[in-house]
Amino acid sequence: MKIELIKGDITKIEADAIVNAANSSLLGGGGVDGAIHRAGGKQILEECRAIRNRQGKCKTGEAVVTTGGNLPAQYVIHTVGPVWNGDEEKCSKLLAKCYKNSLELAENLGIKTIAFPNISTGVYRFPKELAGKIAIEEVKNFKSEILKKVIFICFDDENEEIYRNLLEK
Ligand code: ADP
Repeated sequence: MKIELIKGDITKIEADAIVNAANSSLLGGGGVDGAIHRAGGKQILEECRAIRNRQGKCKTGEAVVTTGGNLPAQYVIHTVGPVWNGDEEKCSKLLAKCYKNSLELAENLGIKTIAFPNISTGVYRFPKELAGKIAIEEVKNFKSEILKKVIFICFDDENEEIYRNLLEK
């Protein structure tokens, strides 16, 4: 599995699936979530509502899938990152679950490429360096039969620098 780093806007990425850093309501929010719903159109929200009606809120660390609506990506995998509260062990486990569950969903969909934003490092205040280490470790540990490429999309300079350094190691 190839790992790529791109600085930019995840809504523009032509991967089979992009991952959304959603909140547990699945009904949209700010940051990358807002950008994905704005660019993807109403259909994504309608599918999220249907999921909510079926299973209730999405728990932290879990992931659900919708189509990509008007996005170049075919699917959006919505995962709920932990809000950083200083409990490093618990938050780290939950963030790792976000990556693992998203990768498993992608693998079950039979897709080849997936793009991740820097989950939890915005409004949820997860320390960026630690979040980057967890993200890369989960991807490297994932044994994939079908997935060929994982792209980390960094929106801000700080995350890009962190990922560049971590991936060079
Ligand atoms: P969270 O609530 O999980 O912290 P945020 O959306 O606030 O989610 O931030 C997660 C990360 O997504 C941040 O690093 C932020 O810079 C980044 N981000 C915001 N908009 C976009 C976008 N359009 N494409 C990719 N990443 C984005």
